Amino acid sequence: MKLHQLKLYNTLSREKEVFEAINPPFVGLYVCGPTVYGDAHLGHGRPAVTFDTVNRYLTYLGFRVRYVRNITDVGHLTGDADEGEDKIAKRAKLEQLEPMEIAQQYTDSYHKDMALLNTWKPNIEPRATGHIPEQIALVEAILKEGLAYEINGSVYFDTLKYNEKTPYGRLSGRVIDELMSGSRELDGQGEKRNAVDFALWKNASAEHLMKWDSPWGIGFPGWHLECTAMSSKYLGTQFDIHGGGMDLMFPHHECEIAQGNACNHKDPARYWMHNNMITINGQKMGKSLGNFITLQELFTGSHDILEQAYSPMTIRYFILTAHYRSTLDFSNDALQAAQKGYKKLINGLRITKTLLFDEADAVLDEEQVKQIQTSIAAAYRAMEDDFNTAQAIGHLFNLLKKINSLYTGQLSAGALGKAVFDQLVHTFITFMDDILGLIEEKPDSQEGMINLLLKLYAEAKTARNYDKVDEIRSGMKALGFVVKDMKDKIDWAYEE
Ligand code: ZN
Repeated sequence: MKLHQLKLYNTLSREKEVFEAINPPFVGLYVCGPTVYGDAHLGHGRPAVTFDTVNRYLTYLGFRVRYVRNITDVGHLTGDADEGEDKIAKRAKLEQLEPMEIAQQYTDSYHKDMALLNTWKPNIEPRATGHIPEQIALVEAILKEGLAYEINGSVYFDTLKYNEKTPYGRLSGRVIDELMSGSRELDGQGEKRNAVDFALWKNASAEHLMKWDSPWGIGFPGWHLECTAMSSKYLGTQFDIHGGGMDLMFPHHECEIAQGNACNHKDPARYWMHNNMITINGQKMGKSLGNFITLQELFTGSHDILEQAYSPMTIRYFILTAHYRSTLDFSNDALQAAQKGYKKLINGLRITKTLLFDEADAVLDEEQVKQIQTSIAAAYRAMEDDFNTAQAIGHLFNLLKKINSLYTGQLSAGALGKAVFDQLVHTFITFMDDILGLIEEKPDSQEGMINLLLKLYAEAKTARNYDKVDEIRSGMKALGFVVKDMKDKIDWAYEE
């Protein structure tokens, strides 16, 4: 294990802690996945890239990560207080499709976007609808502990009773008395004993689309329950890291902690990590504000507030240029700067992969060696300091300067000595390929390249330079293209 000392900020303790795996070299990482009722947007992109980088860095350190990210395909209601319609069923009605068709369609499009962002697939991607018996068993266990109550076919978590023994609100820093008084005047308490109680199981009305049989009648699980069911099933009742966006901290993760403690008498996760929110031109993203941008709109530039398309790697790079606990503001200026930065690094990567060590007239340049070693160490220390990708990228740019100097010949490889030269090359490639996951995006410019060649072909023909004509013709043939020399134009076809 290459572990120096990995520190991460634990939202639960509000402190940076030295990471210790429960059962090394294994690490259980659970991240709340999307509710699949619409296209993935920026709010999905950030946690996906953040926890992909956590997964990648832990893997780089030698841990064997079991990364579980769920798909929410039932139980996430439009209202915050256990009321409203199921988001997926609502969409299904609108589009006159089966709820599972909606879930499938948006799961597929989510996967496509996540692949474009070069995120590693989770090791397990469980669906809420595939774990109904596990969720029912959890409700039964919590009822048995006396920390839930049934009413009219629904079961609610008794937050006040739970709070008598185990404080509720530790993760988000909320105090139950304030939660109680803050919600007293609000509607929506309905049949719950207290506004702070939350649904474990909801009785389904006749017209409700997704419902299952249970000991309490026909119904469906509460949204918070699925993550407790699936994380404990695949990672155990206490696992290493639970992640997600800050917006999930309350009530979702707070409820997961309560459910876990109620059944298993311990916190479900040792470390809680939350990525901060994104803003767009300084504003919160929201449908009503007209700045709600899907990832596909970003990739194609098809949104009014975008001046151009931004490639998936530009977006990934942009997300990594901020520390995950800082807010990140999307603007055309910032994205254009990110595009430049990404291309600088990717050009560096291409060069790095071609650099060769040459010992010829090597005089060791100790100053250069020191600078390179300092930047290499600093890049890794930045990652070990709560995954500070922003700082790590800064150090990578220092290394890039050296790489560019090697490329132009201002600096000779021999001046670094073989070991430091290898370390420089290895570090740059490892950071780009393995840790940050920044890969080369080849522009889709085949058509343009072919047309350029045909133009050169036509010019050679006009100049009666038949050697050149033959060279281009046979060169293109070798690549699988045939030059079509026609009466009034020159065209091409695939070689048959
Ligand atoms: Zn969750």
